[in-house]
Amino acid sequence: NASRILGKTVLITGASSGIGAATAVLFAKGGANVILLARRQDALAKVAEACAAAHKESGLQQGGKFAHIQLDVSDRAQIALLWSKVPQDLRDVDILVNNAGFVKGLEHVGDINEDEIDAMFATNSFANSFHTTDFKKKQSGHVINLGSIAGIEPYAGGSIYTATKHAVNAFSGSLLRELVNTPIRVTEIQPGMVETEFSIVRFRGDESAAKKVYEGLEPLTAEDIAEEIVWAAARPPHVNIASVLVFPVNQA
Ligand code: NDP
Repeated sequence: NASRILGKTVLITGASSGIGAATAVLFAKGGANVILLARRQDALAKVAEACAAAHKESGLQQGGKFAHIQLDVSDRAQIALLWSKVPQDLRDVDILVNNAGFVKGLEHVGDINEDEIDAMFATNSFANSFHTTDFKKKQSGHVINLGSIAGIEPYAGGSIYTATKHAVNAFSGSLLRELVNTPIRVTEIQPGMVETEFSIVRFRGDESAAKKVYEGLEPLTAEDIAEEIVWAAARPPHVNIASVLVFPVNQA
């Protein structure tokens, strides 16, 4: 029931493109308020405009407040300053979507740049503890983490990325158990192949290598994953969708 997201406030990390951007627009369309975070300000501003247009088109009275804030989730000092930048009326967050993430290069162990290893763990894994402390004090709430099939199945060349996503899987499972008997829900979304900027970033900008991955199959779209996220958020309060594993039909 989509009415369960009406008037809710959603904070989304990595909202400047792909799954995060599509999720922001879908929540906006459903009558939610959205705080959009990422590093690219121009891209964030465009997504905020798309949110405002989707909300207007919906004709809904609830929601419709959008804030976009430049933030590098791998930088703790920036995270500490976040709340001073969030408008007062959006500080009580109901739904936190920990979505920011990337993989750069699929080199084998030993060939991976050490700074990139640090950045991948900081962004994909450690940032997931983002504001969960504040959440524990709340009377209701929902933490939604973006895991991956890579958080369940390792593959050659994916040593660091799969490790970061296995960490998301372990973190989500532990958090879920820690929050049993509280009104806080925890969901992990585990997508298979989704065609986004991620698909190109992982090959360091090589578009033809990126396309090859999808030969013979139709990848998921960012909108497909956004639908799963909003669906999980719109379940009745006593229902916790612990995980959603979602693939293209022709991905093995
Ligand atoms: P995109 O590259 O389109 O989006 C990634 C988002 O993360 C961007 O908005 C980017 O914004 C943001 N981001 C990256 N680093 C940081 C940072 N340090 N601080 C703040 N924001 C950051 O990819 P997707 O939408 O596909 O990826 C979203 C999530 O889904 C990721 O966690 C990814 O691992 C996961 N996933 C993706 C799959 C796929 O096949 N595409 C499959 C399974 C999981 P900016 O650059 O502006 O900071």
